[in-house]
Amino acid sequence: MGHRHELVTKYSRQAPRYTSYPPAPHFMDMEHPQRALDLIDERNSVARPLSLYIHIPFCASLCWYCGCTKVITRREGDSTAYLKRLYSELESMSSRMNSGNRVVQLHFGGGTPTFLTPDELRETGRRIRDLFPFERDMELAVEIDPRRLTEDHVRALAEIGCNRASIGIQDVREDVQKAINRIQPMETNERTVRWLRDAGINSINVDLIYGLPFQTRESFEDTLAAVKTLDPDRFAIFHYAHVPWMMPSQKLLDRHPMPDAHEKFAMLEMMIANLTSSGYSYIGMDHFARTGDDLSLAQQNGTLQRNFQGYSTRADSDIYGFGMSSISQIGDGYLQSVKDLDEYHRRIDEGLLPWSREYYLTDDDRIRRHTIMRLMCDLELDFRAVGDLWGIDASSYFAGSLAPLEDMAADGLIDRTPHGLRVTETGRMFLRNIATAFDAYYGDPQKKARYSRTV
Ligand code: SF4
Repeated sequence: MGHRHELVTKYSRQAPRYTSYPPAPHFMDMEHPQRALDLIDERNSVARPLSLYIHIPFCASLCWYCGCTKVITRREGDSTAYLKRLYSELESMSSRMNSGNRVVQLHFGGGTPTFLTPDELRETGRRIRDLFPFERDMELAVEIDPRRLTEDHVRALAEIGCNRASIGIQDVREDVQKAINRIQPMETNERTVRWLRDAGINSINVDLIYGLPFQTRESFEDTLAAVKTLDPDRFAIFHYAHVPWMMPSQKLLDRHPMPDAHEKFAMLEMMIANLTSSGYSYIGMDHFARTGDDLSLAQQNGTLQRNFQGYSTRADSDIYGFGMSSISQIGDGYLQSVKDLDEYHRRIDEGLLPWSREYYLTDDDRIRRHTIMRLMCDLELDFRAVGDLWGIDASSYFAGSLAPLEDMAADGLIDRTPHGLRVTETGRMFLRNIATAFDAYYGDPQKKARYSRTV
């Protein structure tokens, strides 16, 4: 108990979530749009599997904990105007694609994708399919907000080929929901799952958040018990990222009692024990999947991937993001679209590229990205394998990482193996901390201030 208390105190630090490397704060203002186009053309000189991400930024009301890039509105016309530009962006990018490319993964995120009307969803799905040929067993996932969902939305999703739904629930208790301005009775969640299953969308993820006002280990156990009655295939349980200096609405949460780092750590321990004893495997650092689910198998086989959508089973595909604020990961480049809605519209209307930020990996970034992603997915590193892949002596290459790693080994977060390291059960709860040992940019205090705490 004493040791655990010390660990939490020591490692509750600001650190990236490593959905990219380098993390997005290191992307730079775009100076060479032609370089981005050259990269896309070069990647399309051969046929490849593709992942597409579609950002629908609109939400009907603001959840005060939210850290996403969104636009709060209740005007339906806003989505019509946005979709016009989105279609134009899709069309212009599709003309650069190799005709042999196949979409293996399509993800609608937000904001709220189901802010669109059912017919807008149908039209968007049809257009994407016309422009980007789909692989037969592709995954089409949509983030769903049950609060304004209708059964016709669900029918529309099924018609466009949706086979995975991520349902945002966060917490089922009323006191928590009031404090975060997101009232969502359990009946609404049950109805959503029933509609999805009736429509043949059988792969159901539930998103929860821990670290919100009024939550305790016991209250969150109640939430887990309620959500398990929905029988989801996967849980994504995110640590609430409290960054009120970047997201002012989060200041409204400070009025209420919030769980401290030690309580949050107890919640994490509870949920791991609870879900792993209920037939779920613990994936990476914040996902749980039914034993036998693709994500569990990918973790066992060493083929798990990590990208902007979290953990994924689809390897080796370039990710093309569409819509404001979306991020593309194409070969060794990252491109991010403008975050302002009017500016996005203006750029598309004027025939300009939507991106305002870019990053191209250096040789060192490539090695570190690979190393950090394998650590986050496999929970172990074999320096010989890393060295063979990149033609380096990994032990000396990462000599600068050794001091923090020795410290983490002494704290019981990792075990040193003859040729690398393995993350311990305790260490899994500090995975972001362990990854920082391989992050060449982690010392930058300005960027660090933008990250949330690890515990
Ligand atoms: S629905 Fe999602 S994106 Fe929209 S405000 Fe709430 S948390 Fe943010």
